[in-house]
Amino acid sequence: MRHNPRKRFGQNFLIDQGIIAEIIAAIHPQQTDQIVEIGPGLGALTLPLLQHVRHLDVVEIDRDIVKKLRAEYSPDHLTIHAIDALKFDFSSLGNRLRIVGNLPYNISTPLLFHLSLFAAHIHDMHCMLQKEVVDRMVAVPATSQYGRLSVMLQYRFDMEYVLSVPAESFHPIPKVESAIVHLVPRSSALMNADDIGLLSQVVAAAFSQRRKTIRNTLQRYLTADDFDTLGLNPGLRAENLAVNDFVAISNFLHQRIGNLY
Ligand code: SAH
Repeated sequence: MRHNPRKRFGQNFLIDQGIIAEIIAAIHPQQTDQIVEIGPGLGALTLPLLQHVRHLDVVEIDRDIVKKLRAEYSPDHLTIHAIDALKFDFSSLGNRLRIVGNLPYNISTPLLFHLSLFAAHIHDMHCMLQKEVVDRMVAVPATSQYGRLSVMLQYRFDMEYVLSVPAESFHPIPKVESAIVHLVPRSSALMNADDIGLLSQVVAAAFSQRRKTIRNTLQRYLTADDFDTLGLNPGLRAENLAVNDFVAISNFLHQRIGNLY
């Protein structure tokens, strides 16, 4: 099957059969799983997935690739959604979706946030991303990788680093190393944010200047007394706060705004 890889769609196709087998083993597909693959491309993961499940949904933006897939797979086994995954309504497919994606790296962050809108419909996700992004997603406090992405995604998902994927596993060879991350929409183990927009604002402000204390970066939001009430040391930096600390701050602010009316 000939296809010239398109840069604008982030096309780097998996060619290393050993890595493909490891990814499939990590996904551990069961016959009744409802799997949705984002960006199937030339089918590196699609074909082995279909050896485990009877039917797959795929979301693919490239019309040439869609044509090839339509020619190769029976609609009984493969439902092809020819659309930008960023615009796709994943809730239309079911309630226990298992998402699999070798995601185009240029849209990985917006796509993860788009997918988090459908958390109630998602059982889990295995995503291939730039290794450096996965490192930031799973980072723990007090490390240099811990930041906005870690907090905002850890708030929504339990995440685990699964597998490193060397650049040579793809054609064409990308400039960066990749990794597979496993995401499970979080249970109620963490506090709930009353206002996710406010949480996002507070996290962005706190990390806007990583070297500064939260007394400084959050001065628009919190007074010395507020820090006392929250039981938070204002001399800390954002990287020292746990996800729940950010949630506590944003809920405190949310409540205060509520009390103004
Ligand atoms: N999963 C395949 C292909 C990876 S390349 C493999 O591992 O070999 C990334 C794939 O995502 C390509 O098929 C590309 O066309 C597709 N893609 C890029 N942007 C997309 C988008 N916004 N929505 C859906 N698919 C997209």
